[in-house]
Amino acid sequence: MTPRDGKSPGSPLREGGPSRRLALAIFGNPVAHSLSPLMHGAAYRAMGLAADYEAIRAASAAEVVRTIQARNLDGASVTLPFKETVLPLLDGVDAAARRIGAVNTVVRQGEKLVGYNTDAAGLAADLSAWCGIGGKSFAVLGAGGVARAALCAVLDGGGRAIVFNRTEERARALADHFGCAWAPLAALATSGADVLINATPLGMSPATERTPIAAALLPRFGAVLDTIYTPLRTRLLGEARAAGCRTRTGVGMFVAQGAAQIRLWTDREPPLAVMRQAVLTRLGGKDAED
Ligand code: NAP
Repeated sequence: MTPRDGKSPGSPLREGGPSRRLALAIFGNPVAHSLSPLMHGAAYRAMGLAADYEAIRAASAAEVVRTIQARNLDGASVTLPFKETVLPLLDGVDAAARRIGAVNTVVRQGEKLVGYNTDAAGLAADLSAWCGIGGKSFAVLGAGGVARAALCAVLDGGGRAIVFNRTEERARALADHFGCAWAPLAALATSGADVLINATPLGMSPATERTPIAAALLPRFGAVLDTIYTPLRTRLLGEARAAGCRTRTGVGMFVAQGAAQIRLWTDREPPLAVMRQAVLTRLGGKDAED
């Protein structure tokens, strides 16, 4: 089963009619810290939709799928550590999620569960709104799920990418998979790019003193996007700003990937500003983008 890329062949809301109460959840482990219930709740209230979106801690990817079926959920967000392992357990997976090798969104289509990945589309939307992608060069730090989504966003958008990662073998494998360049972390000392994307957890709460790249190297980059959004302003972004770079937090990507999920589940346009404000208010930030 191969659904059309990026489009819901029949969203649960459209199939069930407008008065239908949507049953949704996010699965992860841990999951209690997730801002998704807050962001999705704010969106459905503003849209006037009856929907429940709860956080469920699961022990395995198999349990995620069993629970979606047992509770007859219309859709689900999937977060760490199940994004990769849930993929082979679904009835269908769209082409983008298959290429990325990870599913962050499940959509019920009748009896079947179909997997999507909205991280790449979310980052592509945020990069396009912020700095543009086509013709630009991007240095991507990391080789995990978010790095894969970043490569998809950059390369599909007409940008050039080079992967830097602690484990060089993973950088090489990722670059081969996407047909782009890679280099050892040490090569950051002699590289530069229009945009640096941090797709590692370095700097995320509670270890906020950490950072993925020495401050002295930041002037080599025109702009820096940190996919981390807790804290809103990471050490990396503070040092990048001091070095004269434009900076972007991970909030834009987070909101955009959630908005893409809502389109898949409801076929309706989500209230982006409401979602963004809900997240920023919880994180204690004003609109923190440059
Ligand atoms: P992941 O699959 O675990 O990958 C993490 C990557 O970071 C790996 O390549 C790993 O390198 C590298 N890394 C980890 N610790 C390191 C260290 N101490 N030094 C150097 N490199 C290190 O994680 P992911 O799913 O890609 O997520 C990465 C980050 O993205 C998360 O921490 C989160 O903050 C952010 N995120 C943002 C959004 C959003 O919507 N804004 C959504 C999801 C995630 P090795 O290969 O050497 O292990």
